Amino acid sequence: MRPGDPADPLLRQVLPLADELADVAGYTRDPVGDRMASPVPGLLQKYSGRALLVTTGACAVHCRYCFRRHFPYSEAPHSLAQWQPALDQIARDPTIHEVILSGGDPLMLTDGQLARLVEQIAAIPSVRRLRVHTRLPIMIPERVTPDLLQLLQDSRLAPLVVVHANHPRELDYDVAHAIAALVRAGIPVLNQSVLLRGINDDLATLVELSERLVDLRVMPYYLHQMDRVAGGAHMAVPESQGRDLVARMRRQLPGYAIPRYVREEQSEPHKLPLD
Ligand SMILES: *Cc1c(COP(=O)(O)O)cnc(C)c1O
Ligand code: SF4
Repeated sequence: MRPGDPADPLLRQVLPLADELADVAGYTRDPVGDRMASPVPGLLQKYSGRALLVTTGACAVHCRYCFRRHFPYSEAPHSLAQWQPALDQIARDPTIHEVILSGGDPLMLTDGQLARLVEQIAAIPSVRRLRVHTRLPIMIPERVTPDLLQLLQDSRLAPLVVVHANHPRELDYDVAHAIAALVRAGIPVLNQSVLLRGINDDLATLVELSERLVDLRVMPYYLHQMDRVAGGAHMAVPESQGRDLVARMRRQLPGYAIPRYVREEQSEPHKLPLD
């Protein structure tokens, strides 16, 4: 963050503003239907073949646009014993081939807690892949510890790590170092971003973000239309502008550097492509 700059795109992601108190029609506390998709506490199952574990409510930062900013984390499990019903549910459904660790941020767990959880997941024969959705390599890059790399490498499960950066300036020297460690460990690293007003809603920023990611061996995966979460309306970008930005990115970048521009819809079987 640039000290003294209230418009700084890194500051804007975490700065609480009075705008958040505005009650805007269509913006709700559960914008993506998480509650409907939860068969047992802590488990979300919306899409075929994948199940998502809400491992913790803690994060390295409080992003103001977070779609789970009102999530009832206190109802989610907090220990291995409490995750058991979710794990049992995964074991009962042989169509689940991938478990996604989410939250909050799963890397807020200790390496010991994570190792035990991953071991339990790996003991379910039908699960093949483990995906970790985390913003910690961006926010606290020191969290990418040798023990973490080892546990991902040693698991029977094929690992993927999806990080979350919205602006090229988030990818500084220390972050590059942490990402390089993941890449060197043979772990595919993807990035997802959220399209945000005043932060990355311009062509130059999105192009630079994609280029910087690819240079770090990170594949741009998703550019999310912001979920309509209560308190976030002031950060939303119209879909028409998002489509236009992605169309213009295509003219400048190789195909692999273009993230899929998507929106999450409660009743759809996958994230909806917008372009
Ligand atoms: C986004 C999401 C996933 C993962 O979707 P992909 O398109 O595979 O990245 C899985 N489960 C839930 C509940 C999700 O919200
Ligand atoms: S890191 Fe992710 S889950 Fe945590 S506050 Fe930010 S967007 Fe929400």
